Amino acid sequence: MIKNLKAWGREMKSIIGDREIIASVSGGKDSTAMVLVFKEAEIPFKCVHMDTGWEHEETEKYVLDYLPSVVGKIEILRWKGGGMAELVKEHKGFPGGNMRFCTKVLKIDPLRNYFLKYEIEPINAVGIRSSESQARAAMPVWEYNSTLRCETWRPIKFFTEQEVIDIHKRHGVRPNKLYLMGAERVGCWPCVYARKSEIRLISEIDPQRIELVRQLEYEVQLERKNKDIKLGTKGKYVPTWFIHKKAGWGINKVVEWSKTKLGGKDFEPFMPPSGEEGCMRWGLCEGVDLPSDKKPRKKVKKKLR
Ligand code: SF4
Repeated sequence: MIKNLKAWGREMKSIIGDREIIASVSGGKDSTAMVLVFKEAEIPFKCVHMDTGWEHEETEKYVLDYLPSVVGKIEILRWKGGGMAELVKEHKGFPGGNMRFCTKVLKIDPLRNYFLKYEIEPINAVGIRSSESQARAAMPVWEYNSTLRCETWRPIKFFTEQEVIDIHKRHGVRPNKLYLMGAERVGCWPCVYARKSEIRLISEIDPQRIELVRQLEYEVQLERKNKDIKLGTKGKYVPTWFIHKKAGWGINKVVEWSKTKLGGKDFEPFMPPSGEEGCMRWGLCEGVDLPSDKKPRKKVKKKLR
């Protein structure tokens, strides 16, 4: 807990120096809390949002229509080819397991391109909290990222959920309505690493999204069949969003399973590979390391912390 945000802000400004803070806002409560902390601590910042084209419409409304009135302009970063559905069609396959091309194309590349416009390296600020998971607790508050070629800062790492709620209340900021609809986290809807409860919730409150996944599975499968016919090959791969132990679970099976009760069947088969944490380490997805860009950038004097 930070006792005096204004005093903390002054201390942090001496560490930040002349670097710009780029705060990634997802439409979730933690990244919103982070920018409210900056506001209260009088730390200047800019906001970006990585639009994957795969968020729930409530998240889009929250980020595009509501949050700017609270935190100022939010720059929307996108892949020039579109969003998740276009990416799946272009790849003729789904991300998942260790093939997480969604992270690279939809999040890392647009953010990295944005950061590289800065002559002086900026600071990538992300709203991650220790109490969310052991993996997050193990992440340092400051960490250099060679892909983005700048430091990542996790200023609310030690905040409790109550503190996150409190700062929303202090600023009169309402949360994304998805939370009120039962979601525990917001972002890709669903993520390839969705939990059982998330799939169940989506099937209950947003059956159109399940239908969209079903349609994508159908289209990709058809493309592959046509390719096999043309080339005289026989592909074994079943295109689907969810891969468990190298086998594809089509969305119908996943939704059915999500409704099963506890008792042996209640496991989480679509979690990120061990040691990873979905899209959260850099405010992005983990496990993707791109070659560093060699474009020179002004060196920044780093203070000792
Ligand atoms: S949140 Fe999940 S689905 Fe979305 S880009 Fe990251 S890994 Fe892919």
